[in-house]
Amino acid sequence: MKYARAFSILLIINIIPVYAVYEPPTNEEQNIFDKLLTQFEIVDAPKKDVSDVIETFQKPMINTFSCNLHDTNNQIIIIVKTKLAKFDENMVHQDLVTGGSYTWHCSETMRSGKISLDCNNELRLNPKVISNDTQIDPQLRNIENLVILYHELLHGQLMIDAMKNSSLWQQETCNLQSGDDIDYSFADPDHKIINYLQTQFASELVDTAGGKMITKEISPDETNNGSFTIKVLSFIDYPLFENGTKITFRTNNISENSFFQIKNDVFLSGYLKDNTKSGIAWFYLFHNEKTQNMTSESIPAWIKQAVGLWSDENTPDENFYSVVDYLMEHNIIMSNNEKNTVSTIPHWFQKNAHLWVTNEIDDNTFVGSIQYLISAGIIS
Ligand SMILES: [Zn+2]
Repeated sequence: MKYARAFSILLIINIIPVYAVYEPPTNEEQNIFDKLLTQFEIVDAPKKDVSDVIETFQKPMINTFSCNLHDTNNQIIIIVKTKLAKFDENMVHQDLVTGGSYTWHCSETMRSGKISLDCNNELRLNPKVISNDTQIDPQLRNIENLVILYHELLHGQLMIDAMKNSSLWQQETCNLQSGDDIDYSFADPDHKIINYLQTQFASELVDTAGGKMITKEISPDETNNGSFTIKVLSFIDYPLFENGTKITFRTNNISENSFFQIKNDVFLSGYLKDNTKSGIAWFYLFHNEKTQNMTSESIPAWIKQAVGLWSDENTPDENFYSVVDYLMEHNIIMSNNEKNTVSTIPHWFQKNAHLWVTNEIDDNTFVGSIQYLISAGIIS
């Protein structure tokens, strides 16, 4: 999810030859877009109307308005078109999972009191994020894909809204002098509005699917120079999800994040990438059939003994990996790789293992935390 600011005409022509650079989407990308858009248009959840921007894929949106008598210019003519473009790895945003991008590309001409904006915008969707993320359950993946599309369309719609209806933007544009930049900030590059709208939409979709979405904002003053360990939720507040719950999470401006569970509470630790700004974590709770059906019999006693020894630091990590192998072979946890790669197992996990051995946390929770290590790529 990424926004690229539109450049002034000079930049487009001299530095970024936008027309030459346009690359059509792959068949896969076109299919993804068509399917997702069809689904998006029939989805039964309240959302901001983005039909203007959707229409710009079919036909140009033309918006013309006259300026006031004493303004610098007398007329503004705007044409907006959008087309799907091939996803570009180089456009990957640093802080965010780049599910896609919406780019405003407008060429601006100013002639005898008339300003013409000819916008040939591009939507890009990252097929890797949208179709291949096998570590997420399909239900959540589908929701996230719809949210990615909504997010990108909002970058288009919010600017179109300003062009059509904002007297502030219209007046500003009517009073531009030659050499001034057009204000594209209404496209919300900082996600001030989009984050909120997207969270609302996602939460509605999760509810409809029988899950629960919890948003946690971590402000810099809750951290120690950016690093934090914070309680994000307690299952006491969500009794429906107490047993057999699968937790997935996404974050923004947080790195090296990990979450762990102690009894009924779930904690998140990590640090703020930019510790002058808040970080956001979105947690998705879904019932997990797989772990729900698991009984204590499905984990043999020797496993608990082995983990017990390991958590007391009496045996090397290799013994722990043989436990992971067993759990994978019996499909209690899932991984794409067959062999475990050794990297450092976080300290919190060792604590979790100890809590499990002493029966302070249950099997589901413990298995869930191993599954987390795999999903997070700490072991694979
Ligand atoms: Zn964005």
